[in-house]
Amino acid sequence: MAGTEEKTQEGADSTKTGAATKPAELSNYDIVNHWFQVAADRLDLAGDLATVLRTSYREVQVQLPIKLTDGQIHVFSGFRVQHNGARGPYKGGIRYHPEVDLDEVRALASLMSWKTAIVGVPYGGAKGGINVPARELETHELEKLTRSFMDKIDRVIGPTRDIPAPDVNTNAQTMAWMMDEYGKLHGHTPACVTGKPIALGGSYGREAATGRGVVYCYREAAPQLGLTPPETRVAVQGFGNVGSWAARIMQHLGCTIVAVSDHTGSIHREQGIDSEDLKRHLDEGGELSDYDKADHISAEEFLGTDCEVFIPAALGGMIHADNADLIKAKVVLEGANSPTTPQADQILSDRGVLIIPDVLANAGGVVVSYFEWVQNLQHFRWDEREVNDKLGTIMRRAYREVNARARQDEVSLRTAAFELGIERVVEAARTRGYV
Ligand code: NAD
Repeated sequence: MAGTEEKTQEGADSTKTGAATKPAELSNYDIVNHWFQVAADRLDLAGDLATVLRTSYREVQVQLPIKLTDGQIHVFSGFRVQHNGARGPYKGGIRYHPEVDLDEVRALASLMSWKTAIVGVPYGGAKGGINVPARELETHELEKLTRSFMDKIDRVIGPTRDIPAPDVNTNAQTMAWMMDEYGKLHGHTPACVTGKPIALGGSYGREAATGRGVVYCYREAAPQLGLTPPETRVAVQGFGNVGSWAARIMQHLGCTIVAVSDHTGSIHREQGIDSEDLKRHLDEGGELSDYDKADHISAEEFLGTDCEVFIPAALGGMIHADNADLIKAKVVLEGANSPTTPQADQILSDRGVLIIPDVLANAGGVVVSYFEWVQNLQHFRWDEREVNDKLGTIMRRAYREVNARARQDEVSLRTAAFELGIERVVEAARTRGYV
């Protein structure tokens, strides 16, 4: 493995001062189950139905022994969890991270079932991952690992069965390897994964889609809060796919990106960080921690940034009971999955902070993945404007439906979103005769 990465005591993917950490005791599984239970209680779901909905349909765990360049065989575990398929083929990303385990993948798979239902795309929910320190592997090692993973899960994958996509530390290249490996076993099948490179049947607009969806949610929420882009200062936690696109699109809209953090540190600049320039710096091999056009600050200072919008776009559980008080934003726009623990959610809500939940805010990715799948099945391609317009229509509709439900029932956007998602899954499952 190339280089070694120290793990912090807290267990987050944070290696240097300035990157946020999270408490080890709170898993994504606890967080997601909590929100599910709140909505299930409000919907008065019978206990057996709630158990069916909480439990995954299929959980696959495979052993991935890979000989790395150090000459040693390293054994990684790969997971694919299919949570609920009542509304269509399973759909969800693949995460490469040392903290990936069955519980985390289970939790993320169930979030996908509610998310696809909330935005109304015809999929069930799934998630996958490998417990690997991906940043330490060479590209050819990652390719070997990815191909081996697909070889071992291919029987449960396919355009009408289960369609993976990128997530943390995976990208279009990872999807290209997965599609290629699947093709060797089943014939050329671009619709077996989404988030592919454009040259291999990827969709225009997919790479930016999750970040763009986050921004559509901001645009819906801003008038309610009396915010306009020139008056909106933004802090973005995580500057990977979701965070960097959300920052760039917010900046294009006229907002000011005042703070950014990633696993190497945190930066601040009151007059605005040029997120295009920061992205170029990272693409050229630089790190956020050596970016010299902003001030370097601590993780606590980053969380306490004076801003209107805080976008968590890193890992789960990063906003927790011990640091939620630091956040000064009016809106927390959850680009990441499960970034806010239930205790932190309570602290923020009590202070009147609007939380736009993950299952709504980051659903743009799966919406454009759906468009990519549709284009692949039709052997046809839409231009980027068409993709973005269709994404906007779906995100606006979903936001308005969730918002209307929240107002009608006097609940948070999160509870309203979970209620809507769960109801739609239950309706599909009942109509099929599953429950
Ligand atoms: P990514 O791997 O592209 O980026 C992750 C970012 O998080 C990196 O910038 C990394 O440095 C940062 N990070 C890691 N540890 C950190 C720490 N301790 N403090 C601050 N930053 C830290 O991943 P991504 O695809 O952008 O996914 C980010 C989040 O968004 C995840 O929760 C993922 O599940 C969710 N999500 C992604 C998509 C998608 O389409 N990629 C869709 C929906 C939700």
